[in-house]
Amino acid sequence: MSRFAQPLTELIDQLTKLPGIGRKSAQRLAFYILRSSEQDAFALADAIRDLKAQLRLCSICHNITDIDPCQFCTNPTRNQAIVCVVEEPSNIASIEKTKHFNGVYHVLHGALSPLNGIGPEQLRIKSLLARARTTALQEVILATNPTVEGEATAGYLAQQLQGNSARITRIATGIPAGADIEYADEVTMARAMEGRHEM
Ligand SMILES: [Zn+2]
Repeated sequence: MSRFAQPLTELIDQLTKLPGIGRKSAQRLAFYILRSSEQDAFALADAIRDLKAQLRLCSICHNITDIDPCQFCTNPTRNQAIVCVVEEPSNIASIEKTKHFNGVYHVLHGALSPLNGIGPEQLRIKSLLARARTTALQEVILATNPTVEGEATAGYLAQQLQGNSARITRIATGIPAGADIEYADEVTMARAMEGRHEM
């Protein structure tokens, strides 16, 4: 028999499924929610329900959105001919934060990883190729992560996008600002050297 009343056990079980939440943290959160006001607790429950009920993927770029097409794909002030390809919807926030990009996006929802059974069919690649074929794109920026999987994905996409009139570019990677080159691993250092520019 469980040490807690059934509804509490149920909440702890559900919270334990979240990433980075162990049994102890789940218990702590569950008791916190139990002690909080009815208004706060129901607001949390509603937020979770609304998230699943109202959000979907944009039919053009596959970003998470509550309106389809999303705010980027319908925005007349953004350059619809420059497409930045990212692995995850959360990557868009990182790029937007820079305020240096005024194009649109394409979210792959992952990266190629044959060892984990993720091939081109498992990613939103077909729709990207169709987009490049049917729209007059100026540039496709491959902004997948500088990991083995991200590089493989960028390489694959560059090959598949060959023959389109669009420029295919890859984001530069290298030493992060504020870091010491003494601690850079060799891949990062090699990339930083490759990505050097005139001053
Ligand atoms: Zn969109």
